[in-house]
Amino acid sequence: MDQADYLIVGQGLVGSILAYKLSQQNKRVVIIDKGSGNTASRQASGLINPITGRRFVKTWMIEELLPEARSFYKALSIRFNHSLYKETSLLKILHTNEQVNDFHIRRASEAYAKYLFEYPDETPAPIQGGFGQAKIEPLLQIDIKLMMDDFYAYLKENINLQESEFEHLALKEFEDGYKYHKITAKKVVFAEGYKMRFNPYFNSLPIQFSKGEALIIECPNLNLDCVLNSKININPLGEDRYCIGSTYDWNDMVQKPTLEKKKYLLDALAAAIDAPFKVVEHKVGIRPTIVDRKPILGEHPTHKNMYVLNGMGTKGLSLAPYFADHLIAHMENGTPLLDEVNIERFYEA
Ligand SMILES: Cc1cc2nc3c(=O)[nH]c(=O)nc-3n(C[C@H](O)[C@H](O)[C@H](O)COP(=O)(O)OP(=O)(O)OC[C@H]3O[C@@H](n4cnc5c(N)ncnc54)[C@H](O)[C@@H]3O)c2cc1C
Repeated sequence: MDQADYLIVGQGLVGSILAYKLSQQNKRVVIIDKGSGNTASRQASGLINPITGRRFVKTWMIEELLPEARSFYKALSIRFNHSLYKETSLLKILHTNEQVNDFHIRRASEAYAKYLFEYPDETPAPIQGGFGQAKIEPLLQIDIKLMMDDFYAYLKENINLQESEFEHLALKEFEDGYKYHKITAKKVVFAEGYKMRFNPYFNSLPIQFSKGEALIIECPNLNLDCVLNSKININPLGEDRYCIGSTYDWNDMVQKPTLEKKKYLLDALAAAIDAPFKVVEHKVGIRPTIVDRKPILGEHPTHKNMYVLNGMGTKGLSLAPYFADHLIAHMENGTPLLDEVNIERFYEA
């Protein structure tokens, strides 16, 4: 019999960070994942960007999220003895005069000045210039593929990671916890990404599928040492490789790459750089997104000690470390959850 304080379902980015943080607090954790390589977490580009969009909008809660993410990924790099984390900048090509104006207006405001900088130089070849360019700093770059491999190895060796499909109907509830086959646990946390839609306990929550595709290319002449944004992101991975992406599709749930999105990415790339390249990989994953674009955390309204941690959408890397701590404080000490992320916002009083 495996006795645990926590049974976690899902070893994506969210479940891994939660399990890791709980284990750091000496909690006994069992984590179950069916071990599919095609998850959002394994396909992500690995960026944390404080300012996004054409109109230079500050990422929600970035003042709180950024320091937490920075210290978490730094510490993780040391713990796993791998260089998982880098701070760099984003060179953004501005494609209209309106965008140039927006940039200057934002930059003039105190809240944005520490993230937005002039980039007066000519864009170096082979980057195609526009009406102007801006620099965004800091941009955090996480080697998420390596990190997910490290989490897998850590959870397998130090925590009880079981590789199987979780069967929701086999979960039995008792007064003081749950039993699942040979596992007993005081609390269960579901961190299933977009598969939450198929969880009978939480399938009424308004999760949406946001399919994303990205290409990995080899481009020896590009020599980019920061991330370039010119309609799409061009993210240097080292050894002349770059991640190009990503796309959004709210209707297609099929976990397969499409020719349509490949063409979109290649067209955007051809407009951004003038250099020969070779496509070496086409990635696809489904982001778990809640209708109001905020994470979802908290306890099931009728099943005590059953929790959810999900809805990280396009920003799992910045949101997951902070909101894993937030949920742990709630589960362990009863610390109230922020209204904006509380599951209760979707249940009637
Ligand atoms: C192309 C692309 C690019 C992205 N780029 C970025 C980026 O640059 N920065 C950023 O912050 N975010 C990015 N994201 C978003 C980020 O990937 C997600 O926010 C994050 O990975 C979500 O993690 P998760 O653990 O909730 O979900 P997932 O990664 O989907 O993990 C869920 C896990 O649960 C398991 N599971 C589900 N149901 C069951 C079951 N019944 N039994 C057993 N196991 C189960 C699955 O196997 C999976 O391992 C990107 C996403 C995509 C698709």
